Amino acid sequence: MGAQIKPPRGIGPYCYRLHGQVYHRVSPLYASDQHKESYGQLYIFDSSEATEKRLSNNQNCLQHVFEKLEFMLREINPFAQSDLQMYRLVQEHPTTSVKMVFLEDKNLDMRRYNAPTLCTEVAAIFVGDNIDPPTNRDICVYPVEDTCQIISPLNQCCDPMTYPLLFPRGECSWNTGMEHVEERRTTKRTRVTQLQYYAYRLSQRNGFNILHNSDKESKIRTKDDIDKFVSAELPDPCTDLRLFQIVTKCMVHGPCGTININSPCMRDGQCCKSFPKQFKDDTEENVNGYPIYRRRATEPVQVWKYSIDNRWVVPYNPWLLKTFNAHINVEICASVKSVKYLYKYVYKGHDAASVKIQKEGALDHDEILSFVEGRYVSAPEAMWRLNEFNLSHKSHTVVRLAVHLPQQQPIVYQDGQEARAIERAALRKTTLTSWFELNKNDPSAHNISYSDIPQYYMFDKSTTNWKKRQRGGQNVIGRLPVVSILDTERYYLRMLLLRKSGAISFDDILTVYGIICITFQQACQEYGLLRGDQQWHDALNDAAQFQSPRQLRMLFAMICGFGEVEDVPDLWVQHQVSLCENFVHHYSEQTGPHYALADIEELLTSYNLSFD
Ligand SMILES: [Zn+2]
Repeated sequence: MGAQIKPPRGIGPYCYRLHGQVYHRVSPLYASDQHKESYGQLYIFDSSEATEKRLSNNQNCLQHVFEKLEFMLREINPFAQSDLQMYRLVQEHPTTSVKMVFLEDKNLDMRRYNAPTLCTEVAAIFVGDNIDPPTNRDICVYPVEDTCQIISPLNQCCDPMTYPLLFPRGECSWNTGMEHVEERRTTKRTRVTQLQYYAYRLSQRNGFNILHNSDKESKIRTKDDIDKFVSAELPDPCTDLRLFQIVTKCMVHGPCGTININSPCMRDGQCCKSFPKQFKDDTEENVNGYPIYRRRATEPVQVWKYSIDNRWVVPYNPWLLKTFNAHINVEICASVKSVKYLYKYVYKGHDAASVKIQKEGALDHDEILSFVEGRYVSAPEAMWRLNEFNLSHKSHTVVRLAVHLPQQQPIVYQDGQEARAIERAALRKTTLTSWFELNKNDPSAHNISYSDIPQYYMFDKSTTNWKKRQRGGQNVIGRLPVVSILDTERYYLRMLLLRKSGAISFDDILTVYGIICITFQQACQEYGLLRGDQQWHDALNDAAQFQSPRQLRMLFAMICGFGEVEDVPDLWVQHQVSLCENFVHHYSEQTGPHYALADIEELLTSYNLSFD
């Protein structure tokens, strides 16, 4: 495997970081000026020489570990033995060109076919020039070549060659012809997929799965739950010395700030992770979507040359620390403050990485030859997918209900077929007009509001009728689309539909205490729905559920500009939190509202209005 290893600068928890692409590579049999001996080449040397060369490439590794692994692989790994065989062959016949080919043929048992015995039988060495070159999918190791060879990831010999320690005996990895055992075979699938194969291999190795797929009951909800799983305090060395040692070694941040201004976390004189944290007597759940962990003020302890107290502890899980003896970050993330941000996250698309390829040894190192936009998969996501856990889950069916003015239902038509579309639409009812029909014919629907109707009735799209549900419906939600207040009549019609059940026509909706109003707005007025600023509060509360702070400020400006608001300052105060959210996050609790007000002022100016 070839990769650039670049650990982050500064002191801090141990971190293994690869820079750029990871390659599966096979090196030539002989080293050259450009390529030092590495990978399989080393097996042509005797053990001690190979270990020495390997150590010179990896100076931080322990010699005795290398020696043990080297010895083991030479004993049991057929690829190591094949390399050696090839070398000997070239030594004996210097003029012939030798290559080792691993055939991708599902009919061959590659272990048997490849594994050389102690004699000279090496089945997969092809000698001579008259033999057809292998197809692309076969791995080929050439003895004389000055570049590294990239091998196909689909070849069943790729994994054992790339990860010799995971496949010490050179066992063949997944191949296209791998068949399920009898019990797992289905009529649709008799062969093992790559996913199933790796999931099986990993579960064999792991024994423990760090990803916990939690169900409804085990969700962390209360602050007692939080304290049970996550701690941000130094443990008592008298009751748990080992945990105390691991926490002080792995889970103490920095220190940074005035004690150590050169800490890598410092940005413009501030710790970018906001350490030291405040002391806190009790855990507080869901502050802006995150908990604030308990950090009681206790006697500081001496860690290295610093005096450390609970303000410096990075939140940890005791069991994980004791199991792995390593720095493991944990964060409670079971709470959602605003659903809209969750949606933003779900729909933002997958993680991506932009990979730049540079010409090796080029003088101008900024010369970018090409960009590759890649799909970035983190290790936890990879494990999640390999285990085939659900990425999402749908609990409710949402039924979209039409909100349209009389004779103004939307019609879809194709160019030149307008007349036919109108004819067709005249015969069909919308969910709204069909609801009127239902109320005319079914008295039991009278007490159910339009938005609740999908829980009790199902809209049959072919007949455009509401039909009574026999069962189910608990997980059905009716949704009236949001209407802009600039679309005045539809806006007020929606307001009436949310409140009035049993309506049999548009005229019925317009009728208030026996009198037919001219407009829906007037009807709202007559019902007293427009008294005070309640409608504006409702509009802002509704919008805050799904709109971004910027969109909310546009709505607020529109309401102030075009609605008749009685008490603008009160409207501002009551909705300040959602109107300022992004600015508060970006700046501070104090200055955020100023930025928001300036933004609203600017919006008003664009409508030729002002706060005065
Ligand atoms: Zn810091």
